[in-house]
Order: sequence, then C-alpha cells, then structure tokens
Amino acid sequence: MRRAEAVNPIRYAKTRNFLDGDVTGLSPYLTHGVVTLPEVLRALLDKESLGIDHKLVYEFGWREFYRHVWSHAGDEIFQSLHTGPLNESSYKNELPYDIRHATTGIPVIDEAVRTLYDTGTLHNHARMWLASYVVHIRKVHWRVAADWLVAYLLDGDLASNHLSWQWVAGTGSHKPYLFNAENVARYAPAQWHSPDSVIDRSYDELDSIARSAKSYDGMPKKIIHDDDRVGHEPVVSTTPPNDLSWCEPTAADLELIAGRDVWLVHPWALRQPPSGLTDNSVVIGLYLREYHETWPWSDTRWRWVDAAMSEVTPHRWLLRFGELCVALKKATRVRSVDDLHVRHLVKNLAELVPAPMLFSSVDRRCSSFSHWWKQTTRGFTQAEELLQKS
Ligand SMILES: Cc1cc2nc3c(=O)[nH]c(=O)nc-3n(C[C@H](O)[C@H](O)[C@H](O)COP(=O)(O)OP(=O)(O)OC[C@H]3O[C@@H](n4cnc5c(N)ncnc54)[C@H](O)[C@@H]3O)c2cc1C
Repeated sequence: MRRAEAVNPIRYAKTRNFLDGDVTGLSPYLTHGVVTLPEVLRALLDKESLGIDHKLVYEFGWREFYRHVWSHAGDEIFQSLHTGPLNESSYKNELPYDIRHATTGIPVIDEAVRTLYDTGTLHNHARMWLASYVVHIRKVHWRVAADWLVAYLLDGDLASNHLSWQWVAGTGSHKPYLFNAENVARYAPAQWHSPDSVIDRSYDELDSIARSAKSYDGMPKKIIHDDDRVGHEPVVSTTPPNDLSWCEPTAADLELIAGRDVWLVHPWALRQPPSGLTDNSVVIGLYLREYHETWPWSDTRWRWVDAAMSEVTPHRWLLRFGELCVALKKATRVRSVDDLHVRHLVKNLAELVPAPMLFSSVDRRCSSFSHWWKQTTRGFTQAEELLQKS
C-alpha cells in the first residue's frame, strides 16, 4: 500500500513507456493478491481524482480484461486464439540457447533476459520487445516462450502473460507487434541500444520478416564478447527451496485441521484472512503439487511468495490434491479466495469467496479490449465510479 500511495498518476501517464519511467511496480502484489485493484485505486483517489480514461486506470483494465478472457475461454488461452501471421508449424518448439543465456549479441534482448533473471521483473516495454524478437524474428512459438517467461516473473500470471504473448504474436490481436532499434533508442538507456543489429530496420521490413517463415538466427553484425555479461539461466523448480519453513505434512500435521474451521491461503490470495474467524479456526497455506508440476517457479519467485505467505500463516504445506481432500474431510468448514489459477483444484473443497474486482463483470465474451472496456465503463466519466460499483 505504501507503494500504491507513492504513485504519481501524472508522471505515470507521461513516462510509463520509458524503461526508467515512473511505473508502479505493483504487479507482483496484484498477481499474488497481496493488494487488490480496488484498494490501489482508492489509495490513488485519496490524493486526486482521475478520469475513467486515465492511462493508469486503462492499464488496470488490461489486467482485468485478460481475466475476463480467461474466465470465458478457460484453457483455450494456452492455444492460439486465432491464426497469426504464419501457420503454427512455422514456429520452433524450443527457445534457442542464446536467448535463454542472454548471448544473442543484441543488447536489448540480452539486457532484458539478464534483468529478468537478476530481478524477476521486467518493464512492460522490454517484455514486448523480447516477445516480439522471440516470435517474429526467431520464429519461436509464443507458447514455448510464454511458459519460459512466466516461471521467472514475480508477477507471473497465466492470463496476463499468455494473453500478452498472444497479443504480441498476432494470435490474440489483429497484427503482430513489431519494434525497431529506433524505438529502443528512444525509450531505453544506452546499454540497451541495438544499432546495426537485426532489428535496425524499417517497420515495413520487419513486417515482411514477421510474415515470412525465415528465421533470423544468424549472428548479428554486432557481437559482444564479454563473458561476465552472460546471463546463466537459473533453474526452475516444482517445489519451494528447502531452507524455507514449509513442509510436506505428515499424518500428524494433517490432524491440525480435524474439527476446525479452515481458511486456505494459496499463492494468488496472500492476504490476511477475513476478520471474525472463530477461535477454532486455522489458516493453512497451500502449495499444490499438481499446479507447480505444470508451472514451476524460479528460486526468486518461490522466495517472494513464501515470504508473503509466511506473513499470513506459519503452516505452509506442499501436498497433492488427493491428500488435501482426505485431510479436509475432517474440517468443519473450509473457505478460501477464488482465483482462476487454482479454481479447478479447490472449488469442490472450499467455499470460495470472490476476489475483489475493480471493473464489473461482462457476461458475454469480448474478443477485443476496446469492446470489453466500452461495456464495463459504460456511462462512467470518473474512475471513482468504479469503486462505487465494486
Ligand atoms: C510478454 C508479456 C508478458 C507479460 N506478463 C505479465 C504477467 O505475467 N503478469 C502481469 O501482471 N503482467 C504481465 N504483463 C503486463 C505488463 O508488462 C505488467 O503488468 C507490467 O509491466 C507490470 O509492471 P507495473 O506493475 O510497474 O505496471 P504499471 O505500468 O505500473 O501498471 C499498473 C498495473 O496495471 C496492470 N497492467 C499494466 N500493464 C498491463 C498489461 N499490458 N497487461 C496486463 N496488466 C497490465 C498490472 O497489474 C500493473 O501492476 C506482460 C506483458 C507482456 C508484453
């Protein structure tokens, strides 16, 4: 909330596209449910009023639009929503070594990958550049690269990430997103600039490249020979680091919930349980093996999440869905917060409290952001009106 209170919406609107611009850095907290969009907007509006079409409100909208698409399309978001510039078979099913190890020799790409590995975060513009290069220049299938990126991002969210990749790829939007060296020179610090590289071209040339199956894998004209700058791809893991105090619960641990009201905390709702839990309640943090076996995380991500979860409960369990089902049979009442990441696993085990949304839900699936935005903000002129609804 301190971070939210420090946001300056005017500076945000002016500088958000610059790598050193005044962006909020709130996405890990929003992804993991530490704070919600209504809380953040309330903090902003306590300082000044904002029009409904303020840039920041609009960006909040993108987050919820992607949720809207996910809630309607389900697992279809993991496949191309429609055909992009090329057939699916024109794209590779593996992310090349030089991209994963930040040794393409193209500064903007290597800086982006190193920043990702070092910090677990990446500016939106850098994500767009990286995604565009990977898909349109190197012809890697967006899905392969989206799976790779999401494991390293502290804010990794399957809707925002996978649908953003589709937006860049042109399988979730009407045209491929392209960028060139001039664009990088305008928005990024000098060490990211990439003159004389494969992206130093006109947009017409880049468009032809995106629409041709030829992959530009050759070494770029400019090569950096500096081994210290190689980004070693960190391992990703299906279990949290061993030195953290989670456990695989024993039969005795599982007895903790027998005869108790249980509040389940999962990685997408890392907030304090509602006030008014009975004295007989226990709060259990969940890492479900089935989820993490499909979506492993970097060490940095695990540590971030576990630190936030440990603020809520000392009991953090890594277990299989079946074990949880058996254990919860002995509980008197089980509740949790709904989230699409785990809904399919916990919906039959717990009463799900809806997560607070900022925009009112739109029943019919909208295929474009602008269509969804029109429906959800119909008749509004001020952002304040969103809070009266939510
Ligand atoms: C290839 C790619 C992958 C992405 N993967 C993710 C992801 O896994 N998780 C994620 O939260 N965002 C993702 N984004 C969107 C965006 O890059 C991040 O939300 C943003 O960079 C987070 O930084 P911030 O909090 O400083 O954002 P700010 O610019 O300060 O925006 C405030 C909030 O608005 C929301 N937001 C802003 N831009 C977008 C956007 N384009 N799409 C969706 N929500 C947005 C976020 O919740 C963000 O925290 C991805 C974008 C691309 C191009």
